[in-house]
Amino acid sequence: MKIAKNTVVTVNYKLSDAQDNLIEDGRQPMVYLHGGYENTLPKIEEELDGKEVGYSSIIQIEPEDAFGDYDAALVKVEARNRLPEPLEVGMQFEGMPDGDSDDEAMIFTVTDIADDKVVLDGNHPLAGMALRFSLNVADVREATDEEIAHGHVHGAHGHHHGDEDDEGEDGDHVAIHPIH
Ligand SMILES: [Zn+2]
Repeated sequence: MKIAKNTVVTVNYKLSDAQDNLIEDGRQPMVYLHGGYENTLPKIEEELDGKEVGYSSIIQIEPEDAFGDYDAALVKVEARNRLPEPLEVGMQFEGMPDGDSDDEAMIFTVTDIADDKVVLDGNHPLAGMALRFSLNVADVREATDEEIAHGHVHGAHGHHHGDEDDEGEDGDHVAIHPIH
């Protein structure tokens, strides 16, 4: 079966930067709904469209087609007492710090902590990086009507609906394949 709109694609992948430094080893395959549902990067969909199980390739995606350029204006210094304790470098907060009700809630990552100040970086951790994906298509199946209606994959590796599901992303720290 060929990858086309409304198929569910399972891809084994490795992600590195343009210098081949490994960023994510992809121990968990990426499983996404193909066809412009923003389940994965458009360039990956473009690369895989029309392909079948066993197809493999390596593609490099420039920052503007991935997570954007690094924007120094998104780095903010905040008074430490405005943030919850305990605080650690690497922690992430949503919608901090000035609470402009912008379009979407931004995720800020704590990148430095001083006595009374905290540096928050609103850039995506992969912003400004060219990303090299090694891809290998492991499975292609037709999406269910429900998956198409929801715009995401259900089942193993996919989105689970349930009472305690509201925590969201399930440790999907680099959000290459946002699962909502
Ligand atoms: Zn759903």
